[in-house]
This record gives sequence, structure tokens and C-alpha cells, in this order.
Amino acid sequence: MWILPKPSLSDALNDVDEFERLNIIPKTETDPLKALTKLYDTSSAQVTLSQVNTITSNVAQQIHDAYDETYENKSLYYIRDDLNKSVVKCPYCEINECESLDHFFPKSKYKALALCRLNLVPMCTKCNGNKAAKNVSGFIHSYYPDVTLNSKVFFKCSVRVCSCGLSCIFFVAPNVLPKNIEKAVNNQINAVDLKARLNKAIIPFLKTIFITIFSAKALVQGLPRLIAEFENQPGFYNHWQTAVLRGLDKKINGNVAVAQQIIDAVKG
Ligand SMILES: [Zn+2]
Repeated sequence: MWILPKPSLSDALNDVDEFERLNIIPKTETDPLKALTKLYDTSSAQVTLSQVNTITSNVAQQIHDAYDETYENKSLYYIRDDLNKSVVKCPYCEINECESLDHFFPKSKYKALALCRLNLVPMCTKCNGNKAAKNVSGFIHSYYPDVTLNSKVFFKCSVRVCSCGLSCIFFVAPNVLPKNIEKAVNNQINAVDLKARLNKAIIPFLKTIFITIFSAKALVQGLPRLIAEFENQPGFYNHWQTAVLRGLDKKINGNVAVAQQIIDAVKG
């Protein structure tokens, strides 16, 4: 969650040669477009609109218009296919499959980046639609994340058992991430309506977990190992499912009676 394996710069540069071969861009623009692609990567996607606009405007428009070529059975479909191969779930919600590619810098404004695979992030249509046309500074670039996103526990879940069942509240722990990253994470969570969507996903998730846990005592004893297993999967350190398991462990705190209340609430 939050992060994805970054496509390689060399693949992104090879794409530029392919754009020239397909007559999307003239030969004279291959070097400037490769320079922009390199800048995108070396600056960790901190490019400005004026840097993107160094590409001649009519060529940028041609790049923009060729985006349709990334769809199935079209000449640039291989880019979409490459990007989707390494992704299972949407990096913004980790609920839905990725059915679309998001232009981190919107293609309407940053036309010359419309085909740059470093700027194309697999995403579910709901998150993509919610992000559309909003300010990019309010979102995490899944290919260029701050290191703290995968090294510090910031996404947490507070668990309570009430008469209505299990109550889980997700939150970003304050002062764990750098201030600007914390702000972007919170903005992203709100923009894609993450908390409400996750609340619907918790019980189905816990039901799958509890299939193999046959008693409250087994839950108490098994949780630390389970949390460690989740943490060690790539991209799961601050995954919402890991946050739920940590939240359960904190709530149970070794108490078998509380573990039983949680099992009952989940099995409802
Ligand atoms: Zn999503």
C-alpha cells in the first residue's frame, strides 16, 4: 500500500525511441524527451510545468493524443501491460484491482508526460476518478515515496468492541512522517474516501483470517506471528490489513476474554 515498484528508467527511455519509430514524435525531439524523462527520474518526480513545457507544444499535443495507443490491441499497449504486471491491488486503497492508469501529473496540463511510464501509476477507477484534476502535491507518488512510508508505522487502526460489533477507526499517527508527507497522506486518504471504504472491507478480511484460528487463545498467541508475516510482505508495512491486525493486538493485549469478544463480533 502507498508504494509500488518503480518502472526502470531504461524502459522509459526505450519507450521514447518507440514513440519516434511510430511517428508520434519527430527524431529531433527524442533527445529533449529523453532528457525530460531522466529529469523526472533523477528528481524523484519533482519536475515543474516549465520544465515539462520545454517539449515543443505541438509535439506535446501529439504525445497527449497518442495516449489512446496504450489501450488493448494498440501499438503502445505493451506499456500498460508492463505496468500492470507488477501490481496486484490499487496502491491508494488496496481494496480494488487496478483497472486504469493514473497520470500522476495530469495529462491535460502536462501533455509531454502523457506517455511517460514513470508518470503512469496503475490504480482502481474509483481512486483515479477521485484524484483526477486535484493538486498533485496532495498525493503520494507511489514510485517515488518518502522512505519513511515503508520504514515507520504511521497508518494505524484503533479497535473497539461495542454492542453493534467491531468498531475500527483508521488514522495517521501524527509526527511520525515528515510534515509535508503527513499532510499529503491525510489529503489522499480524504480524497479517495479511504476510511469509509476500508470500514466495509474489515469484516470480510477478518473472516478470512479467522478461518484458521480456532480459539480465542490461538488468536492471542498467533497475532504477533501473523503481524510479522504481514509486515514482511512487500508493501505491507503500512497496509491497512497490517494496521487492523496491530490494532487487534493492542486491544486484546493478551486478554483471552477480549479476543473472544472480537471473534464473536467478527463472526456476528
Ligand atoms: Zn483504489
